[in-house]
Amino acid sequence: MRKTPERATEEEKKQRKRKRKKKTKQTITHAVTHIRLIEANPGKLDALDQLVVAYLALTQQYVTRFCEAETSPDKFAVPIFETELSDRWHRVAMQQAAGIAKSWRTNRQKAYEAYLEEMADYAEAKAKAEASGAPLDPKRKEPEWGEWKIPELRVPSIQANANVVVVEKAEDSTFDYWLRISSLDKGNPLRVPVKLASYHQQTIAGRTLNTSTTLHKRKGIWWLTLSFDEDVPLQSASEAPKVGVDVGIVHFITTSTNKEYGSFHGKMARQHKRDREKRRRKAKLRACLEKKGVPSEQLPSTSSATGQRLGRFVRQEINRAVNEMIKDHLNARIIYEELNVASVRFKARAMNSYLYASNLGHIPEQIAWATAKRGMAAHTVKAAYSSQECPRCHCVDRANRPNQQTFCCVVCGYQEQADRKAAHTLADRWGDRELAACRDKKAVKALLLKRHENWKQKNGLVVVQPAVQLGLWDLSQTSTDVAER
Ligand SMILES: [Zn+2]
Repeated sequence: MRKTPERATEEEKKQRKRKRKKKTKQTITHAVTHIRLIEANPGKLDALDQLVVAYLALTQQYVTRFCEAETSPDKFAVPIFETELSDRWHRVAMQQAAGIAKSWRTNRQKAYEAYLEEMADYAEAKAKAEASGAPLDPKRKEPEWGEWKIPELRVPSIQANANVVVVEKAEDSTFDYWLRISSLDKGNPLRVPVKLASYHQQTIAGRTLNTSTTLHKRKGIWWLTLSFDEDVPLQSASEAPKVGVDVGIVHFITTSTNKEYGSFHGKMARQHKRDREKRRRKAKLRACLEKKGVPSEQLPSTSSATGQRLGRFVRQEINRAVNEMIKDHLNARIIYEELNVASVRFKARAMNSYLYASNLGHIPEQIAWATAKRGMAAHTVKAAYSSQECPRCHCVDRANRPNQQTFCCVVCGYQEQADRKAAHTLADRWGDRELAACRDKKAVKALLLKRHENWKQKNGLVVVQPAVQLGLWDLSQTSTDVAER
């Protein structure tokens, strides 16, 4: 009889210990990027080129297989493809492929679930419209699902571990390190010298490098990425005030302290417009040449250098906005939304641009990094209906957002700038266990509806005309209005 509760206490103790541990520090991984491998002689780099051709082909085979498989990718599975690579390299390729496939599958699944939820939402609105006899908002289109393409590895890139690439400290003074890379020629590893720039040396001084390395080739040059871990003690006090952070289109960031940071408008929007026009012209030309029977490898490329440049610029601006926001709230606990590719896409739909969508996702990543680096407390919360929920009566309705900038509750009349309201709602959701336990968007909606019903009961309201609450009309006018209908 006594055994079970005792074990429970042990388990609890362990859990408490884990929690306490989690709260005192956080381990972050710093990447040391842009190390050019230019000191190696061309013969060595040729050998590396040959290796990467075989490596990339094998990795691609596994990526395709892992993405198409019914079950989740297993990097420890039995190898199945033929290759000239060693068993160790084979395993490294499988591990890299499993990583790529895993994130692709997760993102695709989330996007598909988001699509199903949108579809259910749409069906509900349609049924409602049919029942009431009023036409459905013509702006609302039935959501469509486009199947995702399996990732294609274009940039030669190797995520290696110490089984195939070893970083050795150089004994002589000319170089800083040697990379010992297992090659296709068994027993004859490649030894590639590494010379660090002084800022690289400063960054890693006194650090222990991780054994994993990344090698990639871009525009004919091989690059190395090293990394090291750092334990950052948590600085935030437990009573640190919470600040909600909303990620949006008009401003990158809006906080519940009523501040805004960064914007897609202005210079960036103009650049983006130019880039889109350029791409459209290119696509037209491509289609035209294709019709004439020009082979596909001779067609102009669809990726654009200006687009890539713009993407980099957007990310820089995002980093700047995040850093400014953090600086203004150093003593706060940052609460932001769990953003995934799918929800980002729906957020950016207003802009009808994948560029924004792909870069919006960079904002939460940057918040996570910037807060972890400083030992600040930061938490993600569920974002479902955070833009539509009324903070006072919990009513969820699209109509609560008459336009992009405004939140105005159709039941209780609560009014606030829309992004600030969303930031407040996110802050409120931290510590809301009931909401955190919701499995999907539908469950969130059901919970909020329940809260709304409770609010109505408490306030003795059954049906309330929003206009009455707002006091825009006098009551006699409203009653005649109702009587006439
Ligand atoms: Zn309300």
